[in-house]
Amino acid sequence: MPSIADEISSRRTFAIISHPDAGKTTLTEKLLLYTGTIQSAGSVKGKSSAKHAVSDWMDIEKQRGISVTSSVLQFTYGGCCVNILDTPGHQDFSEDTYRTLMAADSAVMVIDGAKGVEAQTVKLFRVCALRGIPIFTFVNKLDRETRDPFELMEEIENVLGIGTCPMNWPIGNGKNFRGVFDRASRHVLAFEGDGRANASKKVNEIEAELGDPALDELIGAENHRNLMDDIELLDGAADEFDFDAVRAGKLSPVFFGSALTNFGVEPFLKDFLRLAPAPSAHTDALTGEPVEPETSAFSGFVFKIQANMDKNHRDRIAFVRICSGKFERGMDAWHMQGNRKIKLATGTAMMADDRATVDEAYAGDIVGLFDPGMFSIGDTVCSTSCRVQYAGIPTFAPEHFARVSQVDTLKRKQFVKGMEELAQEGAIQIFRELGAGMESVIVGVVGELQFEVLEQRLKSEYHVEVRRQPLGYTDIRWIANEPGQVDIKSLNLTRDTLRVEDMRGGKLLLFTSPWNVDWAFEHNPDLELSEFGNVT
Ligand code: GDP
Repeated sequence: MPSIADEISSRRTFAIISHPDAGKTTLTEKLLLYTGTIQSAGSVKGKSSAKHAVSDWMDIEKQRGISVTSSVLQFTYGGCCVNILDTPGHQDFSEDTYRTLMAADSAVMVIDGAKGVEAQTVKLFRVCALRGIPIFTFVNKLDRETRDPFELMEEIENVLGIGTCPMNWPIGNGKNFRGVFDRASRHVLAFEGDGRANASKKVNEIEAELGDPALDELIGAENHRNLMDDIELLDGAADEFDFDAVRAGKLSPVFFGSALTNFGVEPFLKDFLRLAPAPSAHTDALTGEPVEPETSAFSGFVFKIQANMDKNHRDRIAFVRICSGKFERGMDAWHMQGNRKIKLATGTAMMADDRATVDEAYAGDIVGLFDPGMFSIGDTVCSTSCRVQYAGIPTFAPEHFARVSQVDTLKRKQFVKGMEELAQEGAIQIFRELGAGMESVIVGVVGELQFEVLEQRLKSEYHVEVRRQPLGYTDIRWIANEPGQVDIKSLNLTRDTLRVEDMRGGKLLLFTSPWNVDWAFEHNPDLELSEFGNVT
C-alpha cells in the first residue's frame, strides 16, 4: 500500500488557463484520451448547441458518458494522480475562475498559435503569477496557419513578462504540420496520419535523428532544412532550460501541438507530468511556518463555495483544497474561523447526476464539503490535533459594474440582507459610495453571468425584484496605503472617478478608463493602488 507521502508526491494538481476558444476543452479531452480515461475522442461540443452554462466539462461528461466532478477531474497516468481544476472560461467566467487558481500547484496556458496572447489569458496569467506557480505553455492549433513560433515566444515574453524555453519545436504548420523536434533528446517526432480534424485515436510517432537523409522523405526536404536553421537559431538565442526558474514561475516551458489532431499532445503530457510540481508546503499565517504536505496532519482551505448546484438539494458545497495530510470521511476537524469542532461527515464530489462520496483524499486533492452556511471563502479546516490557518484568498478586481436597487421599496430589509449575504458568500462584490447608504448598491462582478445569478437568487431566495443600471467603470483599484496615510476625500482625481468602500471597509476608486488611473498616480504621488483586495 502506498504511504501518505507516496500518495502526495504522486499528485499533480493544475489548472488549464486560456482565452475562450483557444482549445482548453479539446486539450482536456485529449489528455483524458491519452491517459485511458476515455477510449475515443470526438468534438467535445457542437458550438451551435452547446451553451457553456455550467462547465465545459459538463459537456464532456454528457457526450462521453463519464463522470467528472464539476470542479475537478481526477485520473491516474504514469504513476501520477492528476487533478485538473475546472476554470470556466466562456459566459460562466467569474471570480470563481480566479479563486480556483489559488488551489492549483501549476498551470497550463493554452495559446491559439494564430492569435497569440489574448485578453483573458493575460488576466488569468497574472493571477497565477501572483502566486508564483509554474506555468507551462501549450501553443495550440498548429494544424492551421499560425504565426511564426519565434514571434509567439517574443509576444509571451513581452506581454506577460515571463521567460520562455521551447521544449520542442514545430515542423511546419497548417496542412504542412509534420511533427515536433524534441530539444532534450534532439530527435524528430514525425506524426503519422493525415492530421484529419477530429482525429479520435492516439497518433503514432516516428522518431528520427535530425540531419538523417531519411528525414527528407518523412517530413519533406524543405521542412527539414527550415528545421535545421530554426534549431541553430534557437540553440543560440532561447533561454536555457532552468528547472529552478520554471519552479519559481519565471520561465515557461513551451510546447507546440494540435489538440484537435492529437499531434504533440502526448509528448507534452509526459514532459509536463515530469516537470510539474507535487503539492508543496503552504504557509501557516499564524506562525509564518511552512506546513509540509506529507508530514503534517490534515489541513486545507475553502477556495470556492457553490450554491444550489442541485435543485433538489438547497444547500451549498464548500470546495476545499487539501494542503496537508489525509482526509477521511467522517473525521473530526477544526474550523478555524468558526472556532469550533465539526465533523467532515459529508465529503462529496458533485457528479453530473448524483453525488459520489469521497472516502479519502490527500494533499493536492479537492473535496467538496456539505456546507449549511458556516464556511466563507478562504476559511481553514484542519485536523483537531493541528491548528493552522492559511492566508485566505484575495478579492479580485471586478470588471463589470452596475447600480442595483430594489423595485419594491417596502422590501428594503430583504434586499439589504440578500445583497450582504450573497456578497459574503463571494457570489458578487458590493460597494457603497462614500457617504451614501444602502438604498442603491454598486455591484461589481468579474463575469457578467454573476449579475444574472444575483438577480435570480435575490428573486428565488429573498423574494426581491431588482433594477440594474449598468455603470461605465472599467478599472477598479484598492487604496493600498496604510490607514490614515492619505485623505481619500482630498485626492486629486478626474471628475468621473468614484470613491467607494467595500464590505470590509476597504477604500477603492472606480475609474472610467485606464487613462484616469494614470492621472490619479500622476497627481497624487503618495497614492498606492492595488488590483487585488484584502485577503478574505
Ligand atoms: P475552449 O473554449 O478553450 O475550451 O476551446 P475548445 O476546446 O472548445 O475549442 C474551440 C474551437 O477550436 C473548437 O471548435 C475546437 O474544435 C477548435 N480547436 C481546438 N483545438 C484545435 C486545434 O488544435 N486545431 C484546430 N484546427 N482547431 C482546434
